[in-house]
Amino acid sequence: MAKVKGLKCRECGRPYPAKPLHVCEFCFGPLEVDYDYSSLQKVVNRKRIEAGPPTMWRYHDLLPIEEDVPVGKHCGMTPLIRARQLAKALGAKEVYIKNDAVCHPSLSFKDRVVAVAVAKAMEFGFEVVSCASTGNLANSVAAHAAEAGLKSFIFVPADLEQGKIVGTLIYGPVLVAVDGNYDEVNRLCSEVADKYGWAFVNINIRPYYAEGSKTFGYEIAEQLGWRAPQHIIVPSAGGSLVTKIWKGLKELHQLEVIPECHTRMHVAQAAGCSPIVTAIRNGTDTIRPVRPDTICKSLAIGNPADGYYAFKTVEESKGYAADASDEEIVAAMKLLATTEGIFTETAGGVTVAAAKRLIETGVIPRDESIVLSITGNGLKTQEVVFNALGPTLSIKPTLRSFDEAIAERPDIGADVVSRSPATPQESLG
Ligand SMILES: *Cc1c(COP(=O)(O)O)cnc(C)c1O
Ligand SMILES: [Zn+2]
Repeated sequence: MAKVKGLKCRECGRPYPAKPLHVCEFCFGPLEVDYDYSSLQKVVNRKRIEAGPPTMWRYHDLLPIEEDVPVGKHCGMTPLIRARQLAKALGAKEVYIKNDAVCHPSLSFKDRVVAVAVAKAMEFGFEVVSCASTGNLANSVAAHAAEAGLKSFIFVPADLEQGKIVGTLIYGPVLVAVDGNYDEVNRLCSEVADKYGWAFVNINIRPYYAEGSKTFGYEIAEQLGWRAPQHIIVPSAGGSLVTKIWKGLKELHQLEVIPECHTRMHVAQAAGCSPIVTAIRNGTDTIRPVRPDTICKSLAIGNPADGYYAFKTVEESKGYAADASDEEIVAAMKLLATTEGIFTETAGGVTVAAAKRLIETGVIPRDESIVLSITGNGLKTQEVVFNALGPTLSIKPTLRSFDEAIAERPDIGADVVSRSPATPQESLG
């Protein structure tokens, strides 16, 4: 069965062959993978998906890869957990975390898109894979290229967090640190792609790459017992993930895998880079580019490629949007860690802060089911929280030194320290 008919322009609908193409020659609209849904209808069902591997590849039928997958075999099927303590803190009833902070191999949701893109680049016979990245994509492309035995050139803004630089370089790519912001890096990469003919996962391979994000939505529905939640909050940079989660849920509904899909999709961005949130608030689908200024570098795209489609997704699904200041991002990272034991990066802080705002303002009713998209790992952005944590007790290796240190700091754990403990004898008796 040929499940992929080819590519199709999202604007004028013109068909294209399934090649490394991404823009319509006629109207400059973006190209998208065009599936043969009537033949998919005959094969896709819950049983078949459930019998698949415990990775995103259980959704192989709905991804644009023809044969067995050569790379990224361990990617996806990350935990979806009921977050009861966070729910209490947010004043909501039913909150879930979809936790891609632990997505394999590089600890962000970008592994989903890159696994598809690099597999596709191999099908096309490319020898070099490349990307323009705000950090997580860099980690993931470098990792998958190493696994695939391909060369990689990774272009990033020079001011990235150390965790993202180290987490890229370890895989042995050529890292190109550009003195500029992401939007400038991306513009440069379009020229490099044209001149050198490499597989840029988020440029000429973008139609295939973007499909990988659908699995984030598929898994949420499956892990909720084959139902779509009432709300999903999605941290957005280029605006692709939010668009594709929605597409994935609609596909499951169309293929009769889930009975209904009334999910409201909400976009979360950092206040220092919120072109999509601003457009949604203003009710206009014209996205005005901004110059990013935020600690949340992974979402710092001032001119989002899919901003228009993110807007349309929110409009169609009757969702909304919220942004978060740098202080709110840090506070939200700490809130998630202290309530649920999950250490997310700045983008996850944006999601949690946005959830708080959307619940407080009544956009999300307190008794409805809410999924928070946690898309990256906190160990990669340690510098933003480092000075906001503590306290640490520094002592000598003696009980006396410990006793003294506690006595000096009645603010630390006084409730458990001051309680007179039972001696072992008493508790035995
Ligand atoms: C890239 C990224 C996003 C947003 O992805 P888009 O599809 O560009 O909107 C969200 N969270 C993290 C951690 C990311 O790295
Ligand atoms: Zn077109």
